[in-house]
Amino acid sequence: MRVQCLSLTSLVFRAHPTSRYSVAALLGAIQSDSRLSELILKAPLRNFESVVRNHFKAGRTAAAFSVMSTHQARVQEEVRRLREICGEDLILIAGGPHASARPKDLLDCGFDYVIIGEGEQSLNDLLVKLMNDADPERVQGVVSKRTTEYPLPRSLPRILLDDYPPFALDMNVVGPVEVTRGCPYACKFCSTPFLTGGRVRHRSTKTVVHWLKRAVEERGFMRTWFLSPNALCYGGKGRTLEVEKLEGLLSASTAIEGLEEVFFGSFPSEVRPDFVTKTVLEMIRQYVANDSLQIGMQAGSDHVLELSNRGHSVEEGMNAVRLALDSGFIPHVDMIFGLPGERDSDLRASLDLCHSLDEMGASVHGHVFMPLPGSAFENMPAGVLNQETRKELGEMSRRGVLTGSWSNQEKLARDLESKQER
Ligand code: SF4
Repeated sequence: MRVQCLSLTSLVFRAHPTSRYSVAALLGAIQSDSRLSELILKAPLRNFESVVRNHFKAGRTAAAFSVMSTHQARVQEEVRRLREICGEDLILIAGGPHASARPKDLLDCGFDYVIIGEGEQSLNDLLVKLMNDADPERVQGVVSKRTTEYPLPRSLPRILLDDYPPFALDMNVVGPVEVTRGCPYACKFCSTPFLTGGRVRHRSTKTVVHWLKRAVEERGFMRTWFLSPNALCYGGKGRTLEVEKLEGLLSASTAIEGLEEVFFGSFPSEVRPDFVTKTVLEMIRQYVANDSLQIGMQAGSDHVLELSNRGHSVEEGMNAVRLALDSGFIPHVDMIFGLPGERDSDLRASLDLCHSLDEMGASVHGHVFMPLPGSAFENMPAGVLNQETRKELGEMSRRGVLTGSWSNQEKLARDLESKQER
């Protein structure tokens, strides 16, 4: 067996656009850990391979990837090339959604260590072991080729957001401020509950303000985005509105001198329709800079919503859209086509709903169902669009009513389906 290189001196992160938020948070966590102050950290936006090679020539180096299931093929090719360039002594570390859901895939594709669950604590602990010639196998959540049993994310400790920075200010690798992690709902197409758990954890308003003030002072931040699986659940246990706590967050962060715009409830966050009330929309409208509100409707048929365990009806979704319009927001409505159990009549209802939304002044963010590893639907058939639907969606896209990567997602969905564990 190959003896792994220890006494790590450098870590190079793959800062791909699709993983930049998680890379920013993980770099922030490393920078806040005094045990890792001697580690040379890099996250180049360009020339990743040559940066890895240069550090590898100078000392013991690791390259880290945050891997989404839809990007496995790209990552596999990048790993192959790194092995070709640096050989087996380069340490390769993977984390991210695919690492938690299918760790063995990543070990098989050439990673030395795969981090299951949240990375902030376990990546740091792994790096400390690698820097100190200690056994990395003993870190909770870290698996290697020698591991025989892989833990599930839910069996591992969850971090508190307040214990870690939201981004890496010292390196100027920044992103949105994650204000909430975890979701108590269990929509069957979604892997968030599997990855981050059903217990909701919020970053406190005090800590959000602390980091934003520093970002304004040190990096000239003028605007920020808040990240949450359900923006309107801030402050509570995830199933109820806590208007006062939400207002506390928004009023404190918009009062920061120099911070001109705060975006919340728009992409990359969204809101569940059953959280939308006139009171809460009128309140957030006073503070947020976004004109749009991202509403997760997902289907135009109650039958499909029920099969997906979505927990709200089409009527509740339409009510949220009307309230958003009345409060001066442009609703941007998430829809998924090809969900498991969708009949022709359900698809027609979803398409008709898109046309109604257009007439009302809303727009649609379209997706094709992808069987995401870690979701309850992970072994379901990929969403497929027939010719007529593709044409209808294409026309809506051309008119600017429909946005989103729905056309690419059909192929990604097929790729995921081809790798399903049967
Ligand atoms: S789709 Fe949203 S509400 Fe449903 S489980 Fe995922 S994060 Fe939670």
